[in-house]
Amino acid sequence: MLDQRILIKDTLNNIDKEVTLFGWVDSIRDHGKVGFIDLRDRTGIIQVVFYGKNYETIKSLGNEFVIKLTGKVQKRGEKQINEDIETGTVEIDLKEVEILNTCKEMIPIPVNSEGLDIKEEKRLKYRYLDLRRTRMQKIMRLRSDLYKNIREEFFKNDFVEIETPLLTKATKEGARDFLVPSLYDAGKFYALPQSPQQYKQLLMTAGFENYFQLAKCVRGEDLRADRGFEFTQLDIEMSFVDREDVLTKIEAMVKNIMNKMGVKMKDNIFPRIDYHDAVAKYGEDKFDLRNEQEKKDNVLAFAWVLNTPMYKKVDKEDAAEVEDGKNGWTFTHNPFSVPMPEHIGDQIKGKNLDKIISTQYDLVCNGYELGGGSIRAHTRELLESTFKNMGYSKEEIEKQVGHMLTAFELGTPPHGGIAFGLDRWVMILAGEKSLKETIAFPMTSTGKTAVMQGPDTIEESKLKEFNIKIIEKDE
Ligand code: ASP
Repeated sequence: MLDQRILIKDTLNNIDKEVTLFGWVDSIRDHGKVGFIDLRDRTGIIQVVFYGKNYETIKSLGNEFVIKLTGKVQKRGEKQINEDIETGTVEIDLKEVEILNTCKEMIPIPVNSEGLDIKEEKRLKYRYLDLRRTRMQKIMRLRSDLYKNIREEFFKNDFVEIETPLLTKATKEGARDFLVPSLYDAGKFYALPQSPQQYKQLLMTAGFENYFQLAKCVRGEDLRADRGFEFTQLDIEMSFVDREDVLTKIEAMVKNIMNKMGVKMKDNIFPRIDYHDAVAKYGEDKFDLRNEQEKKDNVLAFAWVLNTPMYKKVDKEDAAEVEDGKNGWTFTHNPFSVPMPEHIGDQIKGKNLDKIISTQYDLVCNGYELGGGSIRAHTRELLESTFKNMGYSKEEIEKQVGHMLTAFELGTPPHGGIAFGLDRWVMILAGEKSLKETIAFPMTSTGKTAVMQGPDTIEESKLKEFNIKIIEKDE
């Protein structure tokens, strides 16, 4: 099949030649004796002219039919040129057409519009159609391009890409865990990773020094119109670094990636803003530094937020915080962070918790928190002190992070890292408003998976295998 095919964009280099094209019928305009098909493939749209003997087949065609056609590429007359499409100077004089598959006349959602006015439920039920629209095709390709540039930049800088498990034990990132019952150990549960935090630290113990991963994370956070439970992170960890090293290195890499993608940035050197100043000035720790013109030009304004408090009082409305902070204090970002060197004394003594400043750094972009990380605890004493400061007993610490403490006594180097929200990064680059526009198959706002409508009930026999009983929920 493919050896005969040329792509629509290449018709421009095949003028006066007979070519074979494959694609979808974007639209048909029948004017009686002559008619036009707009044919679409992944590279664009081209106009096909038909008359005479092809009429019978054309009559049975409809929008979104999949066809193969042969015809001659011919130049259009001056007046017929269509500036709106790339192939607007040529058209195909149809010779033969073959139907490869049909499409129902009543297509559930239109695919030749922006799609933003269609109900979310319908867009996600027929996401494979929704993704056919040009806007979504562009976003998915932009995402793929970002991944490619990230990988190239990290490999160039001597990072190793390593995958970490999906079925694991809880990693605390301040959200509730998603649990998966074990088939072999009935009554026990795996947790899906809220991030690869602990594994990436263990990869530092393992001596890889520079790690990255495009990692799936799952967090039981309240659903919002623009967010589901899963997201993808660019996850990074480095050994033998202090805060300044991470800031310098990561900033340079982010700039290289953005420059390669032709993105304009507001500042050559990302401004660094103190957490308390940011909150005083903008009311929160994320902000948009662009002026109106820069917003129109889709310029990216990055800034670092530094000197975040290490601990905060538990928000009693937040189930995860209540569980994490046993004595009313919990971590602000990550329990594996260490304080700035001058606060380590208080940290170990458990004094002045409200004044302890973390090594945490957050990268803000156009009003969003794009990434965040910190220098980590790499000794038993440092990690234990954080959990003690949140009111954990020796036994509780052992149960939560005993495996980390063991590793920290077996030659773990000092290390630190960061993670970026990739969905958010794509959203900013594409100038979109919702994270869901950047994910091929996102969840609905009621937590149903796209197309397949999970979660689903399971048969009684399966419940038995897992040793699970369903209890009716009290209203
Ligand atoms: N694990 C952190 C997070 O997911 C990021 C980091 O500190 O590297 O937010």
